[in-house]
Amino acid sequence: MKKAYILLVIIILSFSLFAYPRAKDYVIVQNESTRADSAHGFDITNYDITMELDDANDFISGSVTAIVEAEEVITEIVYELTSMTVSNVLLNGNPATYDYTNDLITIQLGIMNPGDIFTTQVDYEGYPIWDGLGMYFGTNHIFTISDPNASRYWWPCYDHPWDKAVTDLHITVRDDWLVASNGIRTSIVDNGNGTRTHHWDCNQPMATYLVSLVCQVYVELNDSFGDIPIQNFVPTGYVANATEDFSNLPFMMEVFSEKYGPYPFEKYGNAVTSFATYSAMEHQTMTTLGNTNINGNHGGEMVIAHELAHQWYGDCLTHLTWCDVWLSEGFATYSEAVYTEAWQGYEAMINYVNASIQNVYKNWAGSTPHTIYNPANPNLYFTPVTYEKAASVLHMIRLKVGDDIFWDIMQTFFAEYMHSNVITSDFQEVCETVSGIDFDQFFDQWIYGSGMPSFEYTYFFNPYLAIPRIMTYVQTSSNSDTDFYLDIPVHIYGPTDQDSVLVQGTPDAPFEMISITDVPVYDNVEFDSDNWVLYKTQTYRGASINNAYSADEQIIIFWEEFWPQVEIDGYNLYRAESPDDVFLQINPEIITETSYTDENVVNGTTYYYKLKAVKDEGFETPFSDVYEATPIDFPMDQGILVIDETKDGNGTPGNPDDTAVDAFYEAIIPTTFTTWDYEDDGIPPLETLANYSTIIWHDDDFAQNYIEANINNLGCYLAAGGNLIISGWKTADYIPDSFKTDFLSINQTQLISLWEFTGASSTQYPELLVDLDKINPAFNGTLPYICIFPEAANGIYEFEASGGSSSIGEICGLKNEPNGTFILLGFPLYFHYESGANGFMHDVLAEIGEVGVNNNIVPAAKSYLINYPNPFNPSTTISFSVPQTSSFVTLEIFNIKGQKVKTLSPSLCHPELVEGRGEMSVVWNGLDTSGKPVASGIYFARLKAGKVEMNRKMLLMK
Ligand SMILES: [Zn+2]
Repeated sequence: MKKAYILLVIIILSFSLFAYPRAKDYVIVQNESTRADSAHGFDITNYDITMELDDANDFISGSVTAIVEAEEVITEIVYELTSMTVSNVLLNGNPATYDYTNDLITIQLGIMNPGDIFTTQVDYEGYPIWDGLGMYFGTNHIFTISDPNASRYWWPCYDHPWDKAVTDLHITVRDDWLVASNGIRTSIVDNGNGTRTHHWDCNQPMATYLVSLVCQVYVELNDSFGDIPIQNFVPTGYVANATEDFSNLPFMMEVFSEKYGPYPFEKYGNAVTSFATYSAMEHQTMTTLGNTNINGNHGGEMVIAHELAHQWYGDCLTHLTWCDVWLSEGFATYSEAVYTEAWQGYEAMINYVNASIQNVYKNWAGSTPHTIYNPANPNLYFTPVTYEKAASVLHMIRLKVGDDIFWDIMQTFFAEYMHSNVITSDFQEVCETVSGIDFDQFFDQWIYGSGMPSFEYTYFFNPYLAIPRIMTYVQTSSNSDTDFYLDIPVHIYGPTDQDSVLVQGTPDAPFEMISITDVPVYDNVEFDSDNWVLYKTQTYRGASINNAYSADEQIIIFWEEFWPQVEIDGYNLYRAESPDDVFLQINPEIITETSYTDENVVNGTTYYYKLKAVKDEGFETPFSDVYEATPIDFPMDQGILVIDETKDGNGTPGNPDDTAVDAFYEAIIPTTFTTWDYEDDGIPPLETLANYSTIIWHDDDFAQNYIEANINNLGCYLAAGGNLIISGWKTADYIPDSFKTDFLSINQTQLISLWEFTGASSTQYPELLVDLDKINPAFNGTLPYICIFPEAANGIYEFEASGGSSSIGEICGLKNEPNGTFILLGFPLYFHYESGANGFMHDVLAEIGEVGVNNNIVPAAKSYLINYPNPFNPSTTISFSVPQTSSFVTLEIFNIKGQKVKTLSPSLCHPELVEGRGEMSVVWNGLDTSGKPVASGIYFARLKAGKVEMNRKMLLMK
C-alpha cells in the first residue's frame, strides 16, 4: 500500500485514533518459533465469491464457498464477517449447524481428521460498514480496501495473511459498469435485467487483504510485458494522461523481473479510481490506483512502481503476521529506488534514497525510537518505520554485501518463499546463506532494535610511507539503547577517486587503516558521500583552531583539544601571509599544548594559520579552518577604560537609566577613568582598547548582550597583557566557551534562572549584597540569571541565597590564576550596595597597580550600610556611613514581616558621631526590645539619615 504522505502525517498528528489501520483487530503473533500458518489446524485452499452489488441502495448479497483441508483433528471452523445477515450455511452441500455472533460465524464440522477436505458455503447479505476500510459506495463507483483485515466487512473469510487461498469472483453490477478485480477476467454475462456478471479467476493463492474489486464506468487500456497482459482500467476523462503515465509499466516489470525473479502472476493492471484518502493499494494482479496519481507527467511513477513491486513482496511473498509487514512495505519502498536507478541512473537513485527515503524517516522519527519488527503500537505498522526505515536497511544490506550478492539475496528469498508466507528470520537466514556473513548484529540493531545511530569520525594521512595510508576512527552513538555497528563507505578524493572503502564504526571507535592506491596528494576524504547509511548526524572531529589573538609583536593561537577518543602525539601549526599561499609549519617541535605564541611576527602584517593533529609520527589530520590575526602596538598608557554596555533603561527598579549606572561606577571606582558608552559609541576598536592598562566591562541589563561581537578584541587585549574585569547579567553566558577555555581554563557556564541570588561572598574580597532599593520588589530581594562556573578551580566569589538554593557556595566569580589579569563575574555589579562594590574595585585595582593599596577610602558623598558577620549568631556588627552631617539618624531592626524588632541605641547614632566620611559601628546582639533573643531568620537593618535611607538584609542562623 502506498499512502499519501502529507495526509498520513496529518492524521497521525491530529487524530491518532483515526489513523489507519486500526489497532483493534490485530492478531499479533509474538513467538515466531510457532508459525501461525501451521498452527490453526486447517488450510483454506479456495474461495469462490459470488456477489451482487446494489449501488442504488449500497446493499450487497453474496455467497462464499471455501474449500478447506484439515491439518489436524478439528470440529469447527470460524469465519469473520462484520455486521451482515447470514441466511444459510452449508457443509459439504448440506445444511450445517452454525452460530453467528460477535461478527464470527462458527460452523460445526463434526470431526474432521488431518487430510480431510470439506467445503463450506455461507450465504449472506447486508449493508457493508465503512469506517475508512471495507467496501465504499460512491456516487458513481464502488471500491474495496481491506488492508490489513477488512475483507470481513464485505465477505466471510478466515481473514488473516497467513492463510492464502486461490480465489474466484463472480460480481454482478449494473450493466453500464465494468468490474476490475484479481486474476483473469474470463467472462462478462449480460443477465438481461440491467445487470451483468463479471467472472474473475485467479491462478495463485492470495491473502484475504488483497482481494478487491473496483466497479464503475471504465475504459480499458491494454498493454503487455512479454506474455503477461497488462490491463489498466481508466475513467473516461483520464485516458490521455493514463496512457502516458502507464507507458513505463512494461519496463518496470522488466526491471523488477530482472532484479527479483520473473513476474509471478497471470496478469497485472491498475484500476484508477477516486480512492478516498488512499494513494494506492497493491491488490494482487490489480492495483487500485488513486486518480490523483494520474496527471500525464509521470508524477505518480514512484507510486506505480511501489505497487507493482508489491506483486513480488507482499502479494506473492506475504508477511506471515503484521509484525513482519516491513518485508512487504520496506521492500516495495526500496523498489522505488531500484526502479529510479534503472530509469534515471545511479545519481538519481542515491538522491532518491536520501531525499525520499532516509530523510522521510528522519523527519518522521522524532525523539521516540521504534523497531521495524513489530513496532510497539500497531498504529505504527503503516508508517515510515516499516516503509522508509526498512527500505534504508535494505540499502545498507546492499552496501554490506555488494550488488551481486544483494540481488542474489533478493532473488533467492523470492524464489524460496513465492506464493507463501515469510517471517523476518526467514529473510535473515537467506541473507546469511547467500552471503556467508553473520547478520545477527545487523538484524538486532536495525530490525529488532530501535533508534537511529549518529557517528563521529576523524582520519589521518601519511602520504610519505612506501604505501601511503589513511587511518580512520569512527564512533557510533544512538538515540536509543541500541548499540550500532556500521559499515561506512569512505570516498578518498585524489588523482583517481578511490571510492567506497568500507570502514567500521562502533561504539568504541575502532581504528582502521586504508592503503592508498596511487599518488600521495590526497587532501579530501568524505564519509558516506553517497547516502548509503541511515544516520541522524555525522560529525567530523578534526583539528580545530578556536581563536587567534593579535597582541603586540606576537600572535597567540588557541585550539580545541583533539577528540579524546583518539590518542595523538600533538599538533603542528602552519602559517602563510596570504590564505592562498602554501602554509608552512612554524613549530620546530610537535606542540603538546593547545595554544602557541608566534613571536616571529611584525605589527601591522596579517598572518593566516591552520592546524593539524599529529599521530604516530607522520600521520596528520587534514588542515583545520584558517584563522587570521594582525598584531598591533599596545601602548597601554592611559589607565582605566570603563565600557558601559548597559541598556539605557527607564529608571524603574531593575531597569536603571544611564545616569544611575554611571553614578554607581563613578562611586565605586576609586580613581579616574575614561568611559566608553556602548549605546552611543558602538564597538570599541582594538586600537582604542590598546591604549588602556585596564578595561572594566559592565553590562547591568539582562535583555541585551553585545559582548560576543567584541570577544576577539578582548582576547587580543588579554593576550597583549591587559587587565580585564567583566561584570554582567547573563554576560558570562554569552561569552563563547572557547574564550573561557583560553583565558580561564573552564569550559562550563551554567545560567541559574531562579530568583535566589542575594549576593556573593568571598574570602578574598568584600562581600557583595544585592541592593534592595535597586531591584523590582517582586524579585523578593533576589536577582535571577546568575552565571555559575561549576568546574572552576580559581573562584573568588560564591553564590549566596537566603533560601535552600542548590547553588549556594557555587563559584559565581573567578580570576585567571596565577597572573590575575582577568576577572569574570557571573552577576551584574550595579545591583549591589556601593560599599561592597567599592571595596571589591579598590582591592582588585590595587592588586593590578591601578590604585595604591592604602587608598581604601570610601569617597565623600558615598553612604553604605553593612554588617559582619552575615549570617550571624548570636550577634553582628552593623557598620555604616552617611554622606553628610545629618540632623537625625535612626538605626532600626525589622523582621521579615516588616515588624520593628529593635531600635538601636540613639546615643550611638548621635549626629556628631556620623559627621563627615567616618565609619560608625554598632553591635546588635540579636535581642528584641524586651531583651529576648529573636528567632532564626531574616532581619533588616534600616538606617535613616536625612534623605538617605538604606536597608541591610541580615540572616540569623542558630
Ligand atoms: Zn506499500
